[in-house]
Amino acid sequence: MKFKASTLHKIGRPLVNYVYKNPKKNIPKILKVGKAVTGNLFPEATWTMPLDVITNPNNIWNEFVYRTIEQTDRELLTNLLLTFGIDAGYIGTSTLRENRDKLKCNIPWIILMDPTSACNLKCKGCWAAEYGHHSNLSLDEMRKIVTEAKALGTHFFMFTGGEPLVRKKDILTLISENKDCIFLAFTNSTLVDDQFCEDMKKAGNLTLALSIEGTEETTDFRRGEGVYKRVLDAMALLKKHKCIFGTSICYTSKNYEAVTSDEFYDMEIEAGAKYALYFHYMPIGSDADTDLLLTPEQREHVYREIRNKRSHKNGKAIFTMDFQNDGEFVGGCIAGGRNYFHINSEGDAEPCVFIHYSDSNIREKSILECLRSPLFKQYYKGQPFNDNMLRPCPMLENPQALRHIIEVTGAKSTNLNCPESAEQLCSKCDRYAKNWAPKAKEIWEEKERFKPFTQYYRDTDEAKNE
Ligand code: SF4
Repeated sequence: MKFKASTLHKIGRPLVNYVYKNPKKNIPKILKVGKAVTGNLFPEATWTMPLDVITNPNNIWNEFVYRTIEQTDRELLTNLLLTFGIDAGYIGTSTLRENRDKLKCNIPWIILMDPTSACNLKCKGCWAAEYGHHSNLSLDEMRKIVTEAKALGTHFFMFTGGEPLVRKKDILTLISENKDCIFLAFTNSTLVDDQFCEDMKKAGNLTLALSIEGTEETTDFRRGEGVYKRVLDAMALLKKHKCIFGTSICYTSKNYEAVTSDEFYDMEIEAGAKYALYFHYMPIGSDADTDLLLTPEQREHVYREIRNKRSHKNGKAIFTMDFQNDGEFVGGCIAGGRNYFHINSEGDAEPCVFIHYSDSNIREKSILECLRSPLFKQYYKGQPFNDNMLRPCPMLENPQALRHIIEVTGAKSTNLNCPESAEQLCSKCDRYAKNWAPKAKEIWEEKERFKPFTQYYRDTDEAKNE
């Protein structure tokens, strides 16, 4: 595989240089080569959609592509594209798909890890604020995670926390040692400076997702006074240094209109953000405010606004993912290692960044052993948790599922301050799930839905014989 990857990189680099000479003319030619090399690994649309984007100036994504080329350091964009396309995309995807069948468990495309629990902010609804500053993954532990995961096919890692940039020195060491991986750090922006922008550009495989909650008022309401301005300052720095960055947005009953408004999208595009990752508020922890959960009408607003703004005719030129409403594109819940899982700063392997229960720790087990633990196996066997992909979650929309998983596996709460039982957590979601179900049904049945590639346990011979 290493030989194959280095050969593809040797071919890929001159191809990217060739694109830079005349993107409009040369990208269509490259797409043809990509399709020929990867065969049927990816759906046909993987090739036809980009072709339309490149050749059709009326397609909103046409603007996105040429703006990205113009605003990004050439060497950085080249490295990111090659690593994403070859190591994480082609080689990683084929390896982990084989391993899922062979090893009969979930193998993730992405792993999230918390380098530290430390954070200099105290945002409403964020568990990190409760955890304190005493818990960290060592550099060697992060190395172990990356090395073992790469052997399984995983080449994409995200840093969560805590504020990951508290550990920026170790992060830069790790990413420099693993040039065949892509890294993304979720950050509150306050530790981004000129030097860090230059360092991440030099490493060539890191992007930042800056947390923001809409307007100055809605951001500072949740994240603290003055934080909105510091996010804008960080965006300006990253743009000046020609780095790739995006935003991370948690939508709640208080900010759902602000974070889906035209003004917010325009501000992000103007500031240089290339992607926006949307997350539904989750009522985690003993002091979670359930009033921040959205009503069915508020969630429908988010669903429709984000999809409208993706329109290639009159949308907004920024790549968006709405993790709670986009389940149809990935086959529902992606946790438990199906596409990703989370390792907290104590080394506990958790199915999801929002599900703070574990029965395995990377200080005692290998990554593969964690993926084969009873807790992760329950995810593997239970997915999808609902055939309506607008109700993907075993906690938020199907709380009975998480109660069952925790009961049969005996997984323990990993809340570092105040353990929360599955019953305490799920009881905060029961009413939400009940209210959302009819609205989700109505929206889901509106049209024919996308059918992604899946490797559900329920489709295996073993499950059919059970
Ligand atoms: S457990 Fe819930 S929040 Fe986590 S990936 Fe699955 S659906 Fe999403």
